[in-house]
Amino acid sequence: MVKINQNYMKLPGSYLFSTIGRKVREYEEKNPDVKIIRLGIGDVTLPIVPSVIDALHMAVDEMGRKETFRGYAPDLGYEFLREKIAEYDYRARGCQISADEIFISDGAKCDCGNIQEIFSTDSRIAVCDPVYPVYVDSNVMAGRTGMYDPGQQRFERVIYMTCIGETGFLPEIPGEVPDLIYLCFPNNPTGAVMKKDRLQEWVDYANRHGSVILYDAAYESFISDEDIPHSIYECDGARSCAIEFRSFSKTAGFTGLRLGFTVIPRELKAEGVSLWDLWARRHGTKYNGAPYIIQRAGEAVYSEEGRKQIRKQVSWYMDNAKIISEGLKRAGYEVSGGVNAPYIWMKTPGSMTSWEFFDYLLEDIHVVGTPGSGFGPHGEGYFRLTAFGSREDTIEAMERIGK
Ligand SMILES: *Cc1c(COP(=O)(O)O)cnc(C)c1O
Repeated sequence: MVKINQNYMKLPGSYLFSTIGRKVREYEEKNPDVKIIRLGIGDVTLPIVPSVIDALHMAVDEMGRKETFRGYAPDLGYEFLREKIAEYDYRARGCQISADEIFISDGAKCDCGNIQEIFSTDSRIAVCDPVYPVYVDSNVMAGRTGMYDPGQQRFERVIYMTCIGETGFLPEIPGEVPDLIYLCFPNNPTGAVMKKDRLQEWVDYANRHGSVILYDAAYESFISDEDIPHSIYECDGARSCAIEFRSFSKTAGFTGLRLGFTVIPRELKAEGVSLWDLWARRHGTKYNGAPYIIQRAGEAVYSEEGRKQIRKQVSWYMDNAKIISEGLKRAGYEVSGGVNAPYIWMKTPGSMTSWEFFDYLLEDIHVVGTPGSGFGPHGEGYFRLTAFGSREDTIEAMERIGK
């Protein structure tokens, strides 16, 4: 009889967003006249910008003509897109990344989840706590962790790097040396950013110990401060220890279009084997690429008009973030994030747990956010609000909280 992958049974089940949904639904049923404002959304809400829409239309028409029709895309993605990425995302920032080190995909979530495949199942992983759950869960499924301890809310064999207020929600170098280090900056859920000298310490550490850093830069475009690196390759030596993930989802509103990429430098090796070769092999075997139409849309993000339009969207979201940050601070809350990231991370008042504060906000103020404890035990006592709501709702939510 067929057997299942028992590793899946180790997953405690993610009740975070389903519990939020249920609580909101139940409250709405009992109080149909109340207007609930949702500031828990981790998805963009503004429509795709005009220059990208134009590129989409053109690409669709090309697919309908014999002369311009395209079938399977090249394994790594179309050169026209990879060249633009190399130029604008890397060379313009002084990073030596070439187009053939860029692997186009349909998003960063699958790349972050799949990358573990090219590493040994006995690799030790290190993750932040609180954390974006994909990094841990994908390693659980692959059998790289032990059992889940419900008391500790942690998996055995995983190195957790606690991110607390005293350290600006940044991880400290762990005592035990990990093989794979997952870092995400600007961070989801805390909105924390890492300055270049700090990131350089991680790069030096990884090079010294033969670890690989898996760097999720999905929120890179929300950075406005000068001393915050947009890419890990801004650090010396990162080419020999780091893989970087990027996404068009938050940058250009592509959550529904689907486009992202992974960068693996040619000289990155483990046990003398090129990781580029392994990932290329995996790509070739298990993946057939992002759609031509969407890659053309991605190309338009780098046009002069496209870049202008996208910058405007990002700064619109960041105006929301500012309204939330300032509103919360005025109301006396302890707040971080929201400056170089679309996430605002706030301390719950007094000794309220994350879920108690959730209930209070829902029932008394009719605002919905995300309990920090859903991202890991060190998220307990915190709460995440996002800048992706409408301007109207964002302002009204802060007015309600102010009262
Ligand atoms: C939204 C997000 C991504 C992007 O995922 P896509 O699959 O590209 O939509 C990656 N990492 C983090 C931490 C995110 O929050």
